[in-house]
Amino acid sequence: MDVDVVILGAGLAASAAAVPLRSAGLSFVVLDKSRGVGGRAATRRIDGIPVDHGAQFFTVRSREFAETVRRWQVAGICSEWTAGIHRYEDGRLQPPREDEIHARYACPEGMTALAKASFLPGDVLREHPVVSVEKSGSSFVTTSANGSSLRSRAVLATLPLPQNRALLEDFIDEPNRFALDFIPVEPCLSAIVELQGPSPEWKGIQVKEEDTLSWLGADFSKRTPAPPRRFVVLHASAGFSAAHLDGDLSAAGRLMLARAGQICPSLAGSDLLHVHRWRFARASQPLNDVTYWRLPNDDPLYLAGDAFGRGNIESAWLSGATAARQLALELTTPYRRGGMPEAGTTRRGSVSPSTQVPSTSTR
Ligand SMILES: Cc1cc2nc3c(=O)[nH]c(=O)nc-3n(C[C@H](O)[C@H](O)[C@H](O)COP(=O)(O)OP(=O)(O)OC[C@H]3O[C@@H](n4cnc5c(N)ncnc54)[C@H](O)[C@@H]3O)c2cc1C
Repeated sequence: MDVDVVILGAGLAASAAAVPLRSAGLSFVVLDKSRGVGGRAATRRIDGIPVDHGAQFFTVRSREFAETVRRWQVAGICSEWTAGIHRYEDGRLQPPREDEIHARYACPEGMTALAKASFLPGDVLREHPVVSVEKSGSSFVTTSANGSSLRSRAVLATLPLPQNRALLEDFIDEPNRFALDFIPVEPCLSAIVELQGPSPEWKGIQVKEEDTLSWLGADFSKRTPAPPRRFVVLHASAGFSAAHLDGDLSAAGRLMLARAGQICPSLAGSDLLHVHRWRFARASQPLNDVTYWRLPNDDPLYLAGDAFGRGNIESAWLSGATAARQLALELTTPYRRGGMPEAGTTRRGSVSPSTQVPSTSTR
């Protein structure tokens, strides 16, 4: 056996899983197709200035995540960015609503800092797109596109749900397939523009009605000291993104920028720098009463990520951490080794009070 656990993907769920697996003394390797870590909590660097073009900020609802965030704050990894988000509603820009005032956190060095904080050097094999997971005797064999294979006792899969589902097709029985197919994951086009006009008074705008855009974020307001160039991030709505997903991205970006200039005149005349396609951006109806999923195999194969919880950073983190704790228990408890999981954990992980979250909006 090469390692105890192979983790698929190096996003927030995977980085949260690294901590309990390490504490349990289990060996693991994380495989990611990208050059960096963080997944959808993604940061590009332009002229050395970080720009978040995936997740924009995160919120904290559970005690467990609050403790993690407090540690990150002490280490300078994240800080409170803003308490209020402007709204574009009824055809006009409006200030944050009183009942939506609460802390939103961001990372001065960009959102990838969250994942980087938990991985140690050597944990992650980058540029390793996983192409298959198979069983060979009592071990899993995970193969990457470059032909290299790893044998493990367990697999923890944290890819966006449709990718997890496609890769693990052979392990998913009919009832599980049916249930997982009920979690839609929407696309999102994300554009980075450079502001030329005056700085706006808002840090973020959520577009609350059907529109080209769903979000405008003054990325430069997260950076300290103030950067020499001011970048703004635009997210298209799910409908616009789906309609333009496989088309000309620059043309879609220009439409997004034109709409941004109508919502906020100081954005008119900005330069369009980059458009990114997130084919699987967010689970629009995640399973909010489930933190992870153990597939019904004799050997441990777990699914985790933001499809479980609220479809956001906190859920991805809690899902990865909870799945890894359960997996560590399964691998280190002698009577469970190689046997069937206890009733109730076959499909769904139990949700502890500290990880239970209400099912309201995701931002
Ligand atoms: C545009 C956008 C805006 C968002 N805004 C917010 C926000 O403001 N606040 C918030 O809380 N959340 C937001 N989210 C959601 C948040 O980013 C996700 O919920 C969270 O980051 C998911 O983490 P994860 O670990 O579950 O999955 P991911 O971050 O997707 O990690 C999965 C990893 O798997 C890798 N991978 C995929 N296929 C393979 C393969 N075959 N082999 C190897 N590796 C593979 C990917 O490269 C990725 O690194 C946003 C997401 C997007 C896309």
